[in-house]
Amino acid sequence: MKDLKSLIRTIPDYPKPGILFRDVTTLLGDAQGFKAAIAQLAEPFRTIPVDAVAGIEARGFILGGAVADRLGCGFVPIRKKGKLPWKTIGEEYTLEYGVDVIEMHEDAVAAGSRILIVDDLIATGGTAEATAKLIRRSGADIVAAAFVIDLPDLGGLKRLDAMGVKSHTLMA
Ligand code: 5GP
Repeated sequence: MKDLKSLIRTIPDYPKPGILFRDVTTLLGDAQGFKAAIAQLAEPFRTIPVDAVAGIEARGFILGGAVADRLGCGFVPIRKKGKLPWKTIGEEYTLEYGVDVIEMHEDAVAAGSRILIVDDLIATGGTAEATAKLIRRSGADIVAAAFVIDLPDLGGLKRLDAMGVKSHTLMA
């Protein structure tokens, strides 16, 4: 099987000039690569209790859903503002220009439950940090946050560490 990193395509100047976008659709489209990525994301959590995976829109749904199936736990979607049909709680986070909001159904996680956050990539950590805050506001505990890719120069993992959230990544 090909090494997982070689299955990720890097696209220059997307979505804006100067950005090197890591495209994971090439990894998702490779049967063995996808399977291996899910196995590796789930590995540290196979023997500890996890009640649900919280997957961040949109690629965190694909990866997080498969990780939840592998761990035998539930799945909670963390969505961009205005997409969820029931009552929501939201958390703002800062983008390069302006702010965005992510939301979760207010009854999606129970107080005291153990939640694993999953997304494809962590960059500045703003999205994952807002997700962690939302989950904690519901009184749930965060087991860890798992990502296929870390962009270490952007400091996201340090931001999670500063709020006491452990992380698991497959490559930088
Ligand atoms: P952050 O909030 O950590 O700065 O950005 C991470 C979020 O933006 C994740 O939800 C991730 O999917 C998305 N993202 C940012 N840059 C990239 C990239 O180069 N490739 C992919 N696949 N997603 C990215």
